[in-house]
Amino acid sequence: MENIYIKLSEYIPSERIFLNEPMKKHTSFRIGGPADIMVLPDSEEEIIHALKVCKDTSVPFFIMGNGSNLLVRDKGIRGVVIKISENYSKIKIDGTSINAQSGVLLSTLSRAAVRNSLKGLEFASGIPGTLGGAVTMNAGAYGGEMKDIITKVRAIDKDNNIVEYSNSEMNFRYRNSRVTDENLIVLSVELELQVGDPEKIDETMKDLTFKRTSKQPLEWPSGGSTFKRPEGYFAGKLIQDSGLRGLIHGGAQISEKHCGFVINIEDATCKHDLELIQIVQKTVRDNYNVELETEIKLIGEDL
Ligand SMILES: Cc1cc2nc3c(=O)[nH]c(=O)nc-3n(C[C@H](O)[C@H](O)[C@H](O)COP(=O)(O)OP(=O)(O)OC[C@H]3O[C@@H](n4cnc5c(N)ncnc54)[C@H](O)[C@@H]3O)c2cc1C
Repeated sequence: MENIYIKLSEYIPSERIFLNEPMKKHTSFRIGGPADIMVLPDSEEEIIHALKVCKDTSVPFFIMGNGSNLLVRDKGIRGVVIKISENYSKIKIDGTSINAQSGVLLSTLSRAAVRNSLKGLEFASGIPGTLGGAVTMNAGAYGGEMKDIITKVRAIDKDNNIVEYSNSEMNFRYRNSRVTDENLIVLSVELELQVGDPEKIDETMKDLTFKRTSKQPLEWPSGGSTFKRPEGYFAGKLIQDSGLRGLIHGGAQISEKHCGFVINIEDATCKHDLELIQIVQKTVRDNYNVELETEIKLIGEDL
């Protein structure tokens, strides 16, 4: 890894390259062993350089945003984690069109939209991820989804070519997109919003924030909804009706406030979380014959 570190630092300042970086510092779950190397690029050139180093040396790499949908195993991540976040987050607004780098947080982007009297991003203002993560997951809430506002995505494909896709070419669907299908790396995104009254937009955002804080256990570390919504059901209700509300396993718990959330109440490990998830899946399967699929992404090496 020393060799990779040296190659990365030929182009990326060493204060943005970290060796043995604990992933629990970078995930909303506050769980995860160390990444061999983490790099925080601040330009397209640095992202391309990091990818080239990994590909030339056959070292595995993982792209992350704000870590709000990741469950990282306790032994951590071998290879290089390329964290595309606040260092790569410029926003340009032209009329009703926004072009933003993929590392910008949705909360920051939504505030920029209000300041420019633009509506359409209210649903996303409380989702704690980056724009790149939101495109990847086709993130959504309160009736809105990223696919409703995206016009163009600029990305790097598996052969390191820069590609641009229109909305219809992005294969957006429930918590999935062309990014996951083809392991694209999202660089920037163009969004089309509508002119609105900033006071009303602000009011809607406050309203949605209130709904979120009153229903979700935001006071605890988590990865958001642990499970995808099974067709015809709500994961949280199935879990609650199975009598699992508040169940504790190690440092992990089924939230009492919202049973769809596994929370980290006391130094939970990934092992605790995974075992609790399996208990939930088995109980719901036995009770309702419904398969709960995880929404959070599990990555890294087992102990
Ligand atoms: C309290 C809480 C509430 C949440 N509420 C919601 C909600 O209402 N709706 C919702 O949809 N989600 C919600 N989430 C989940 C999460 O915030 C979203 O999935 C978000 O879009 C993830 O973005 P991220 O930047 O954190 O991505 P990460 O968690 O870092 O990564 C998620 C996936 O995106 C990929 N990725 C990230 N950036 C890029 C990039 N630039 N290029 C290519 N791939 C990339 C990663 O490889 C990974 O596969 C919630 C999470 C929490 C903790």
